[in-house]
Amino acid sequence: MGKVLIIGAGGVGTVVAHKVAQNMDVFTEIMLASRTKSKCDAIAKAIGGNKIQTAQVDADNVEDLKRLFNSFNPELVINVALPYQDLTIMDACLACGVNYLDTANYEPKEEAKYEYSWQWAYRERFKEAGLTAILGCGFDPGVTSVFTAYAAKHHFDEIHYLDIVDCNAGDHGKAFATNFNPEINIREVTQKGKYWEDGKWVETEPHAIHKPLNYPNIGPKESYVIYHEELESLVNNFPTLKRARFWMTFGQEYLTHLRVIQNIGMARIDPIVYNGVEIVPIQFLKAVLPDPGELGENYTGETSIGCRIKGIKDGKERTYYVYNNCSHEAAYKETGAQGVSYTTGVPATIGAIMFMKGLWHKPGVYNVEEFNPDPFMEQLNKQGLPWHELFDVDLEM
Ligand code: NDP
Repeated sequence: MGKVLIIGAGGVGTVVAHKVAQNMDVFTEIMLASRTKSKCDAIAKAIGGNKIQTAQVDADNVEDLKRLFNSFNPELVINVALPYQDLTIMDACLACGVNYLDTANYEPKEEAKYEYSWQWAYRERFKEAGLTAILGCGFDPGVTSVFTAYAAKHHFDEIHYLDIVDCNAGDHGKAFATNFNPEINIREVTQKGKYWEDGKWVETEPHAIHKPLNYPNIGPKESYVIYHEELESLVNNFPTLKRARFWMTFGQEYLTHLRVIQNIGMARIDPIVYNGVEIVPIQFLKAVLPDPGELGENYTGETSIGCRIKGIKDGKERTYYVYNNCSHEAAYKETGAQGVSYTTGVPATIGAIMFMKGLWHKPGVYNVEEFNPDPFMEQLNKQGLPWHELFDVDLEM
């Protein structure tokens, strides 16, 4: 039980606020803070019942964060602002004695570089302060990491091959839109592909490896190997892995738009001067693209994200597939946000519940697979993301 501060009032923040407010037996007081306070107020109003306090904060500014932390005194901060703010929020947590949880690893604004090194460097300081930092507690990273830990704990003696498969078979009716922050999303999917094999990273051209994979209740969808941040911590924490890959589905229309955006320079992250004003093309693009938080209303179809694992149990080879399917319409009906925000916000809330109940208390900085997966898996079924498992299946399907 304790006070929680949510930072970020986008699509994911909307879902976290709704889900936290549904668990008032765990969270004694809730504050939602973001750069634009009116967005927090609108979310608090939609939830109703005076359950949520709101505030303005610039999360790039440690002093501003400290002021807010000291006035509200939260036990835990759920960071669902942007990956750029991870380190400033962690600094403020250390200064004010607050625990920390996020859903995406730190990225410097000027370089699309995905690694945990910056945040892992805080481990000793969090340990000494007796504070817990839970990293990557969305769906992927997050649930996929917990799925892997659960499989390793209960179904395998050694896991050897891991394929994380992420399908969005939804239709939002727009020619082009991203499902979460466009700047963060486009930076992520246009980088080179990378996967782990035989003790080293193998790099590919973007989207070079692809094939149709069959998703439950959806069918075959063209899926592409891309680099995704949970691979870094998973290969560290499960050293028996011989290969670990991440697959994501993209439609042809999406890829064509992406190629054009890149070819004409609109995906650039370096500043250019336009009419005497410095602008970053990808930030300008974000301003004209549909707001992912507004996609929910007409979104149909579902997501399917899971882990396909091959390894050894009792000397025999075994295959295992654990996954969740989430309906965009059901997510919108419950929270006013689409499925991708929902599948990120629900796990962030569950991570916060794990912390508040003392089930995931470990001073230091940890990725989610380093905690006990069992109570988290139990909550997934209760909080709106039920999972299913299949044994001895053809993982190439
Ligand atoms: P949005 O862009 O919709 O929302 C981001 C929010 O953060 C906005 O309210 C924005 O404020 C606020 N914000 C940005 N900068 C600051 C700042 N300096 N100070 C205070 N507030 C700030 O993003 P999403 O909700 O789609 O995504 C949120 C996070 O979730 C991202 O980090 C994303 O990478 C992560 N994510 C993780 C996934 C996973 O499965 N692990 C999947 C999808 C997303 P304003 O409204 O003023 O712009």
